[in-house]
Amino acid sequence: MTDIAQNIARIRERIVAACERSSRNPDTVRLIAVSKIKPAADIDAAFAAGQQLFGESYVQEFRDKSPEIQSPVEWHFIGGLQNNKVKYLRGKVAMIHSVDRLPLAEEINHQWQNEATPCKVLLQVNIGEEGQKSGCDPEQLAQLVCAVAKLPNLSICGLMCLPPYCEDAEEVRPYFRRLRELAEQIERLQVPGVAMTELSMGMSGDFEVAVEEGATLVRVGTAIFGERVR
Ligand SMILES: *Cc1c(COP(=O)(O)O)cnc(C)c1O
Repeated sequence: MTDIAQNIARIRERIVAACERSSRNPDTVRLIAVSKIKPAADIDAAFAAGQQLFGESYVQEFRDKSPEIQSPVEWHFIGGLQNNKVKYLRGKVAMIHSVDRLPLAEEINHQWQNEATPCKVLLQVNIGEEGQKSGCDPEQLAQLVCAVAKLPNLSICGLMCLPPYCEDAEEVRPYFRRLRELAEQIERLQVPGVAMTELSMGMSGDFEVAVEEGATLVRVGTAIFGERVR
């Protein structure tokens, strides 16, 4: 087994164990292999190990790298997104995790107008309310949901967060819990066309805690592919 295959197997075991601790069905948690800055060969190795879902963060890199991948992988875009780059994702990604403002949603809506199915999106929440960080303020989330929900060519499937960095994964737990509570609040508003089925949270250092708090999509890079060096 390659390192990558071994790492994936180990992470899957840890996800299952976290599900057992929190009485969850492991089938409700999907692992996203975050392959940013990693070569196509690493993606092929992960695919050979049974990993189908991949996350990328940089549009330019995704545009250059994705045509090299022959295997039928599912791509999610998880990084910061400028309006003028959305066109490069059209028809290529199954989900965009980083929608945090109406003009971006409007651009996705525009780009997806001739696609067979709406673009699945998650709304990114600045859960730690950190100054410079991307993500919608928690207080403005309901308003953003209502505005985005009116756009016909995208569908809101849940929330995503990138909590403040903490050495100890336990310190991140309250942020994950808060995101889940926010999703429950939004669910109660019963906005037409809006589902809060997905919670995208948890990375290499804290995905087990995220699973315990209800994550349905965990985004793991380093623990699968090793440290990223440019
Ligand atoms: C890079 C990245 C990850 C993966 O981080 P690791 O710590 O390497 O697991 C997850 N989410 C987002 C949004 C990222 O940009």
